Amino acid sequence: MQAIKSLIHPFLEGQSKCRKVLFLIDESNLFNSLATIDMLSQNNIETEIYVKTDRQQGKMIDNIQHKTSNKINYVSSFENDKVESLLNGQLIGTRIFISGPWSMIRQIKEIASSVGFTDEEIHYHGSDEEGKRVYCVKCYSYNKAEIDSNEITCSHCNTVLDVSKHFSKRLDSYLGYIQAK
Ligand SMILES: [Zn+2]
Repeated sequence: MQAIKSLIHPFLEGQSKCRKVLFLIDESNLFNSLATIDMLSQNNIETEIYVKTDRQQGKMIDNIQHKTSNKINYVSSFENDKVESLLNGQLIGTRIFISGPWSMIRQIKEIASSVGFTDEEIHYHGSDEEGKRVYCVKCYSYNKAEIDSNEITCSHCNTVLDVSKHFSKRLDSYLGYIQAK
């Protein structure tokens, strides 16, 4: 209950001018978000929903559409330029709710900030632990690291790695290079 309460609260809070909430959801988090979507509808707040899914869309719609009266748009990915034009087209008073892995939240948050959304207008719920994945170039394994760490020790081969700023989409990780001595 705690999690749901903290999600709902900001949208309905006293003097907020929230009129519409735009949902950008990873498929894995869709069911968790349905309660929030329904709650907003009951409070006459408009919702617009985009769900990233890899699956056959027909099946998804059959399974989920009847659980909510809202129209759900399915997309195969949240590409930067598409998200940007979607966000750019929103009226003032729209809030954003992002639900999915942290890598997706960070990506969309960055775009939202760049087109002028304030932190208060951006809500999110991470489906995994916050942090970043670092790929060890020595032993080809993955490590978890704090978001702002520049250096880690690979938990698999004990090599000290410089965490590069380079994010590999293919590996869904930052590259960890062997430190030059
Ligand atoms: Zn390693």
